[in-house]
Amino acid sequence: MSGKTMIRTVLRGPKDIYLERSEIPSIGPDEVLVRLRAGALCTWEQRTYQGIAKNYPLLGGHESAGTVEAVGSQVLTKVKVGDKVAVAFLTRCMQCESCRRGYTNICDNLRAGDEPGKPFGPGGLSQYAVVKGYQVYKLADHLSFAEGSLAEPLACVVHSVRRANIQPGETVVIVGAGIMGLFHLLLAKERGARVVVSELIELRREMAQRLGADAVIDPHKENYVQQVRELTDGWGADVTFCAIGVSQIIEEAVQAAAKRGRVMVYAAVYPHGSTITLDPNLFHHREIVLTGSMSQDQDDFQQAVNLLNTGALDVKPFISKVFPLGQIEAAFQASLSLDTYRVIVDPWDGA
Ligand SMILES: [Zn+2]
Ligand SMILES: [Zn+2]
Repeated sequence: MSGKTMIRTVLRGPKDIYLERSEIPSIGPDEVLVRLRAGALCTWEQRTYQGIAKNYPLLGGHESAGTVEAVGSQVLTKVKVGDKVAVAFLTRCMQCESCRRGYTNICDNLRAGDEPGKPFGPGGLSQYAVVKGYQVYKLADHLSFAEGSLAEPLACVVHSVRRANIQPGETVVIVGAGIMGLFHLLLAKERGARVVVSELIELRREMAQRLGADAVIDPHKENYVQQVRELTDGWGADVTFCAIGVSQIIEEAVQAAAKRGRVMVYAAVYPHGSTITLDPNLFHHREIVLTGSMSQDQDDFQQAVNLLNTGALDVKPFISKVFPLGQIEAAFQASLSLDTYRVIVDPWDGA
């Protein structure tokens, strides 16, 4: 321990957030100390805050950016004190079979080191974080910390879009136009797809159109499967990204899929243990692929950072509000509102 203290955010139970003073850990030779300047509130933290997911006591925050404060002697990543970085909180053991096969995003040991009852988790809503050298990615000077914090969610979508193998001219349907759905829209357009967005909320459908959606569907008003078929001359969706975690959406996505269509379960489905019912002959006769996407590999993260650093992708429209850490309750409330995309917390504002 360094002897110095910092504030960190602990989610102790539903609607129970505690700002705890704790010691700043000292860094090991292969570690970097990052002074965190922005932490975005993602669905995982929101669900834990609401009590839908019961991960307590959670050191929330896994979408963060900050500046390098100290670099261990054996860190080989090219960063120095003062550099602006995005933090990839996902650890990869590099020793399990998943990591050895290259599936580091679904490493077997993601929760290794957690102690029962003790606060666990990435801690991206703290004033400082200690991470391994491989977990920091240098950000360009023109980016704000808030923009940098969105490298992580963008990386998850890079992973999803890569796995879907979109071909130019294909029709991609995105179900749900929250920030994740809209990131899918931007990356699918970049790959030359025609993009249809299905979304219940008008405000979000409008945002999808502003960002380049070729068509939008209101699944409340129109039958989803029928609409997808009509928009594709009966062919169906070549790729569907389910960016909302509801079983029925996955069933409908398979029913509306084209021959050899790919259906991606992007969002986690709640409650865990939910089931879907589908005619297996859909897969036999139509060669549909139903699969999913989880987190991101290191190359996905690098690509996301490159997209931000070069200005190829602008995430400013998704930053709805930045709150000081002292107002974290209000920040969580705002993040649950349907007219926000990402709400960010600055752990040093007002500190
Ligand atoms: Zn996230
Ligand atoms: Zn592993």
